[in-house]
Amino acid sequence: MAYQPSTFNAYLNENRDRFLAEFAEFIGQPSVAADGRGMLEMADLVARRFRELGAEVTLSDTNGGPPVVYAEIGPAGAERTLMIYNHYDVQPEDPLDLWETPPFEMVIKDGKIFGRGTSDDKGELLSRIQAVEAWLKTQGELPVRIKWVVEGEEEISSVNLHDWSARHADMLGADGLLWEGAGYDEAGRPNFGLGCKGIAFFELRCQGPSHDLHSSFAPFVTNPAWRLVWALSTLKDQDETITIDGYLDHVAPLTADEWAAIDALPMEFEAMRERWGISGWLTGADDFHARRRYISEPTITISGIHAGYTGEGSKTVLPAEAMVKLDFRLVPDLTPELAQDLLRQHLDRRGFTDISITLLGGEAPAKSPLGSLVERAAVAASQDAWQKTPVMFPWFAGSGPMHSLSTRLGIPGIFAGATWHPNARAHSPNENIYVEDYFRSMQFMGAFLDRFASLPAEVIDSA
Ligand SMILES: [Zn+2]
Repeated sequence: MAYQPSTFNAYLNENRDRFLAEFAEFIGQPSVAADGRGMLEMADLVARRFRELGAEVTLSDTNGGPPVVYAEIGPAGAERTLMIYNHYDVQPEDPLDLWETPPFEMVIKDGKIFGRGTSDDKGELLSRIQAVEAWLKTQGELPVRIKWVVEGEEEISSVNLHDWSARHADMLGADGLLWEGAGYDEAGRPNFGLGCKGIAFFELRCQGPSHDLHSSFAPFVTNPAWRLVWALSTLKDQDETITIDGYLDHVAPLTADEWAAIDALPMEFEAMRERWGISGWLTGADDFHARRRYISEPTITISGIHAGYTGEGSKTVLPAEAMVKLDFRLVPDLTPELAQDLLRQHLDRRGFTDISITLLGGEAPAKSPLGSLVERAAVAASQDAWQKTPVMFPWFAGSGPMHSLSTRLGIPGIFAGATWHPNARAHSPNENIYVEDYFRSMQFMGAFLDRFASLPAEVIDSA
């Protein structure tokens, strides 16, 4: 039977109050991964909501961290399987005095729902669950098998997800992966993405004398701050090109279609320059090339640097230690481990064996092909549900754990959804989403399930 959006939407209307009451319960349950508050209670709440759909649910161990809630639902013999990813943890609520409403209480005001986790990511999670309920009640059996991974550590860098997905790889096969965290921009255009950059976060340290010395000893005692500065200056030249030996050889060339997708991305460059108080882009790049670089290039950013005396006034000291924090944004086919190896070899070759490198955290980049089933289904569903064609990022310039469930398992993935609006204040006080976007998210989900089940597996060449 063909999908009937009219009965689906009517069900959303009839159940509007109950759906919002359930959302209030989700927001009212703190689940702060950073300090562990309420994690098990929230995992149980999510599991219970899945069981109400008739799903098979397991709370899956993550080396003692908050469990992954894993749910399967839909006919076991379905032709296609959809994996969905969400997370049930939230960021800490501080600074508390900047909240206009209690963070762990749903407050609806001026058409918006306020509360921690509304946009990131409880609103999306629960609206998708409620959409599945609406499908079951109005359309009958689900048209696909769903494998739903809901982790509790997204806000603390998904520390155990990589290992979890490796241990459960044999049960995680799917034809596509619907990711979390998409939304729309100032102009109301849905912004979808087929992946994201990876990241490697390093701390480099250089040790000098056992304690800070009088700087008169500088003529014959090594200064670790100079060592670190010299080492850093070999990583990138003043044209902003990364000069780590062999590093750029691992940057995969983009296809003509990928360049075209990048060139088509709407970016409000003029507004950005104004907001940031700068008159032009790095190396004098024009907007066209700035856009290309934003998506396609790996970066090395000095996030923080420290040595010796940095307080007010002067202090003549030869520091005992120097330290720098570096974040590397990674594009395909770079990985955190590769970046670490190449960095180590590069520094060793130049005599910087005294500089230690610690990888504090990392994610490999995720990239899915243009034209995959999951992408075409998301575009069609956006048109069905909202009459809008989304802006498609070949990958986002930020980073996330998508690689663990997509690229590594060979499953094409997509960031697609409606809950993030430009002023949603995720991670900030007064986090919110629009009430209407909450229900629009369900309409998208209904259309997406239909399209994902029914579109041809491959693009058929019309010629
Ligand atoms: Zn977040």
